[in-house]
Order: sequence, then structure tokens, then C-alpha cells
Amino acid sequence: AASTPKRYNITLLPGDGIGPEVVSVAKNVLSLVGSQQGIEFGFQEMPVGGAALDLVGVPLPEETLLVAKQSDAILLGAIGGYKWDKNEKHLKPETGLLQLRAGLGVFANLRPATVLPQLVDSSTLKKEVAEGVDLMVVRELTGGIYFGQPRGFSKTEKGEEIGFNTEVYATYEIDRIARVAFETARKRRGKLCSVDKANVLEASMLWRKRVMLMASDYPDVELTHMYVDNAAMQLIRDPKQFDTIVTNNIFGDILSDEASMLTGSIGMLASASLGESGPGLFEPIHGSAPDIAGQDKANPLATVLSVAMLLRYGLEEEYAARTIENAVLETLNKGFRTGDIFSSGKKLVGCKEIGEEVMKSVDSQQ
Ligand code: ATP
Ligand code: MG
Repeated sequence: AASTPKRYNITLLPGDGIGPEVVSVAKNVLSLVGSQQGIEFGFQEMPVGGAALDLVGVPLPEETLLVAKQSDAILLGAIGGYKWDKNEKHLKPETGLLQLRAGLGVFANLRPATVLPQLVDSSTLKKEVAEGVDLMVVRELTGGIYFGQPRGFSKTEKGEEIGFNTEVYATYEIDRIARVAFETARKRRGKLCSVDKANVLEASMLWRKRVMLMASDYPDVELTHMYVDNAAMQLIRDPKQFDTIVTNNIFGDILSDEASMLTGSIGMLASASLGESGPGLFEPIHGSAPDIAGQDKANPLATVLSVAMLLRYGLEEEYAARTIENAVLETLNKGFRTGDIFSSGKKLVGCKEIGEEVMKSVDSQQ
């Protein structure tokens, strides 16, 4: 039987600084993989962040959110820059990003930290420790202490100022992030480590209980638990022991930054934010890098690898995802490097040129 050609609509949100440069490269790579593998991609580019502020006066125009919600996946570049730093809160580019995440209902943030063999020297770790690190942090993004009520400032009876926050997790919030984590572990090496502070915090006790309950649905995934203080230590001592880590919002905030520094190359790190049903949001973890914007110096590989995540976690197109990841590895094997990952003996190239090399590698996999 003739198969109907697959078609996906992708929203592109280039944003600010180096965002447009890296998104342009990633878009070209995605188009090429699509035409190679019989997948059609339709692209719609919309303003967000500072670019949207300059254009229409708000960091997330209604139209942008609408288009994004109706698409199959969203690729974001970066948001922010010096130009808008003095703006009021509701007119800050970064507010647009928070509104976008909230509007899409993306509660799961996936951040891989992989030390590629070609870039072991970029790592802050000793070579023996860094080699072979390949882990994924799954962070709960829309609950926990960053959002819990009550919160605020108050005074004690003696008139002493106090600030307070509350960590709240409902079972449905834990269950849905746990499900994403088990599914993610299943697509990787089948090992899941749940990180909590269940010896002290009630929200963590419930977290651990619910994660343990869900384990019966995933007999093929090996589940372990670790206290967050120990996890912070183990990430430095022996990061190779981890495959997939799942944790709450605040612990995930800290641990995912810690994990990303194991690799030492911010220009290589991708991320995905997933919701219950709607489209996922895919973006490099780096910012808008205003210091190098518009100079063709940015490393687009974090965004290219975000497109691989878009294919794997957003569209279930595993083969196309692998094609892109292999092309990135081959490009590095050939010695091409942007400034952020350059070392002596390698070929220093710009954003566009390394993008073209990735495309050649995609072509050669046919
Ligand atoms: P933001 O507030 O937008 O997150 P930031 O200054 O906190 O910005 P980045 O924008 O990520 O953080 O930049 C940190 C440093 O890393 C800068 O010197 C920047 O030039 C560099 N950098 C970030 N991303 C890349 C990239 N893709 N390629 C090369 N260098 C990068
Ligand atoms: Mg930053």
C-alpha cells in the first residue's frame, strides 16, 4: 500500500541575539533530513522576546502563542539582551519565555548532558571521569516550591521580617512527570534514578511513594532513589553511573545546571520541554550571547541537537533524530569546530560553515 507522506508544522521562534543564526542553521538541517526521508516540514516563523517587543510591544504576542499551540513542535532560539535589561518586568523579553512555557503547559524539562568523545577536553572533569558521560535530567517544571502557595513576606511577632515559600506536589503532578521519566529511560539505557529529599520533606516522601508505584508499569526500567545532596556529589564523583535522572523543580534547576557543566561546552547542549498532549518546546540551553551575535561565531550545534530531540520526543521520528546526531558527530570527527569548542589542530569555522558541514554529513548517510 502506498503510504501517505508525513507532514509536520514546525513553529520557529528565532528570538534575539544569536537565536536567528542558530535557528536558521537548524531549520536547514531539518529540511534536508525531511527531504531525504520523505517527511515534509512546514515552517512558520513568529516573533518572541525582544524581537517581539520591538515589533509589537509585548514579549509574547497572542498570535505567536496561537500559531505555536496549533503546530506539531516548536523550535526556539534564544531570548533577551542588554537592550531590554532595564525594562519593567512585564516588558522583559524573558517574561515572554515564561508565558510561552505556561501557555503551552510544558511540565517536563529534559536536559541531556553528554560528554562527546571528540570534546572530552572541554569537560571540567578529569578525562577518566568525563569519558563516556551520557545522562539526561528530567526536571518537573511547573510545580513545587517555585509556584506553591502560600508564599510571600511577613513579620514575626517580634517584628522580624520573614520570607516564606511552600513546596506543594499533588499526585497528578508527580505521576505525569514520573511517566515522562520512565518513558525517557526506556528510550535510553533503561535506568532511572529518582532524586528527592524524602528523609526530610513531606513533598519528597509523596514523590518517592508515587514514583515507586509507577515502577510496576515499567518492569524493564531499573529504578533507584537518591537524596539530592548525595546526587549533587555523585554527579561530580562518578557521573557515568547515571542514565536518566528525574527530580522536582528546584532540585532539577540546580542539578541540570551542574550536569551541563560536566560537559563544559554550552554551545552543544540541547533541551526539550514537554506537556501532556500539545506540542513540545525545543531549545538550546544557552542564552542569546549578545557578545557574539551577528558575527557568524555562534555554535549552532546545540540548536541542531535540539532538532534531534524535537524529532525523537516531539514527533517520534527516531530514525531522523539519529541521522542528525550522527551527522553532528561526523562533523566533529572531521575536525570542524566553532570558537567555543575549538582546540589546537582543529579547523576553526563559523556558524554557517559548520552548519553546511552537518548538512554534508546528513547527505552522506543516504
Ligand atoms: P542569557 O541571559 O540570554 O541566558 P547569558 O549571558 O546568561 O545570556 P549566554 O548567552 O548563554 O548566557 O552566554 C554565556 C557565554 O557563552 C557568552 O560569552 C556567550 O558568548 C557564550 N555562548 C553562549 N552560547 C554560545 C554558542 N551557541 N556558541 C558560542 N558561544 C556561546
Ligand atoms: Mg543566562
